[in-house]
Amino acid sequence: MPTPLGHALGGIAAGALVGRAEETSGDRSRSLRWSALFAAVGMLPDLDFLVGAHRGASHSVGAVLLITGMAVLVAPRRPRLWAAIGAAYATHVLLDWLGTDTVAPFGLMALWPFDGAFHISPVELFYPVCRQYWLVECWLSLARAVTVELAVLGPLALLGLLRAGSRRRRSSRPPTATS
Ligand SMILES: [Zn+2]
Repeated sequence: MPTPLGHALGGIAAGALVGRAEETSGDRSRSLRWSALFAAVGMLPDLDFLVGAHRGASHSVGAVLLITGMAVLVAPRRPRLWAAIGAAYATHVLLDWLGTDTVAPFGLMALWPFDGAFHISPVELFYPVCRQYWLVECWLSLARAVTVELAVLGPLALLGLLRAGSRRRRSSRPPTATS
């Protein structure tokens, strides 16, 4: 399962790319606030650690639909925002599905409420998060995990931020005279 950094990058990438002009352009501080929101939404499912039900319903298409529905209620006239929030949350489910799991039950309840089984990808793209912080090997493992996440998700997050930046520049450019 990816680290919080990987999930934040996934949330930023999906939110910025799906949200596009409506939600991520504007002044730089507004764009940063949107990126922070998408990063937080990307990390949100792991709050289930607090209730001791990790990788259950919070890591599912049902949760994606629920969070998207909440965005609809909060901002009823902003469909692009609904999609961006839903996409940012969905990246968490996708990235965990693609991660190596070392704790049973392996995988996540990705298809809940349609299916209560735990699912995991046959392709393990991301390393597990080591939590034995007193071991040197653990820190080496974390460094390897973060390196892979930065290599895979960093360019996507950067692309989303650059696209938002280019839209911001276009929208702030004064209109040109036409003949
Ligand atoms: Zn998770």
